Amino acid sequence: MKSADEARTIILESVPVQPVDVIPLLQAHHRVLAEDATAGQDVPSFDNSSMDGYALRAADTASATSGKPITLQLAGEVSAGNVFTGAVPVGAAVRIMTGAPIPAGADAVVEQEVVTARNGSLQVGILVSAGRNIRKRGEDIRTGSVVVQRGTHIQAAHLGALASIGKAQVAVFHSPSVGFLTTGNELVEVEQTPQPGQIRNSNAYSLLGLIRESGGEPVNLGVARDDERELGEKLRRGLEHDVLITSGGVSVGTYDYVLKTLEQLGVERKFWKVNIKPGMPLFFGVHRSPERKKVVPVFGLPGNPVSTMVTFLQFVRPAIDKMVGRGGESSFRLRARLETDFQKKDTKRHFTRGVVRNEHGALVVRTTGTQSSGALTSMAKANCLLIVPEDRMEIHAGEEVEIELL
Ligand code: AMP
Ligand code: MG
Repeated sequence: MKSADEARTIILESVPVQPVDVIPLLQAHHRVLAEDATAGQDVPSFDNSSMDGYALRAADTASATSGKPITLQLAGEVSAGNVFTGAVPVGAAVRIMTGAPIPAGADAVVEQEVVTARNGSLQVGILVSAGRNIRKRGEDIRTGSVVVQRGTHIQAAHLGALASIGKAQVAVFHSPSVGFLTTGNELVEVEQTPQPGQIRNSNAYSLLGLIRESGGEPVNLGVARDDERELGEKLRRGLEHDVLITSGGVSVGTYDYVLKTLEQLGVERKFWKVNIKPGMPLFFGVHRSPERKKVVPVFGLPGNPVSTMVTFLQFVRPAIDKMVGRGGESSFRLRARLETDFQKKDTKRHFTRGVVRNEHGALVVRTTGTQSSGALTSMAKANCLLIVPEDRMEIHAGEEVEIELL
């Protein structure tokens, strides 16, 4: 039996980083950048106004006071998208709109709210210092600087930053296609009414969501009955994907054929069973196809719905993270104060479903109640997992525990 840490290390050592795709920026949302995106020009690329107002020469306002305003001649107008021809003469101002280039000669913009424009002239009753309301060229981004780093999970702000430097095409890590096969004679589809002994195939749905949320491309391989031939056929097809995940059939039941069938197909066992709860019977192996020169990680997740989700989050997600260039770690751990006593009876690492909230600036956490590995509602209600170490049998209310946000 492996410890949770050993299991994670073995997985991260075994999974390959994906190749790189060059794709249109619009498709890059939620992908991981595979290059440092550097700016080919300054942003903004010209000095421009941050206000609607008047561009002027600051020195002209040196003697202006509210009691004795100075008068400047209005010499024209420049709006966003246009360029003022010529220069602002001494003793003059140009009407300017936000985003418009600062006309030659001007070195400040006075906002329109503090001046009075009348009959082609402008009264300025304040001393305007040079640089006022000017966004300098290169203020946001300098030519040659890295705007978004390799390994960044591309979100809305990154899309915008990449667009601003003209990155119409970006290099991202290929999203692995993740085949998932659910197994069990008892499974029926969600639209069917389960007959006695049957249950709906909820894992097919939670896995689909988990794979998508992790940055993989889910491919539903359907359901395999607990039958070696049927499993063999479906698993063989599953090995054509970049990652293969199964749910169910990895325990010690008479009809748990998944391990045996995977090994018959040439999947090399890296480990079976991890010292955790829920999810102890987790299997991990790799398949090397000689012709495709590819290593396919294979995860046999236990079928209990909570075990499936927890083992995915703890072991499959870090693997996908590494594959898509995120370095194998996207989960976010914090510490929170436990609200009620917690006890366990074994020396496994427990991943207990919890609800964390902010109470007067401190994080407090409670468990979601029944922690049966079949009780999917404990997962649906949770916003975090409590990580209870192997050697802690008891944690008292008020003590701190480590949590991982979901
Ligand atoms: P197994 O790991 O195959 O022994 O299954 C353990 C438990 O999880 C059993 O109660 C199964 O009925 C249940 N189970 C297995 N697969 C699924 C699934 N796809 N959806 C919901 N429950 C499942
Ligand atoms: Mg089963």
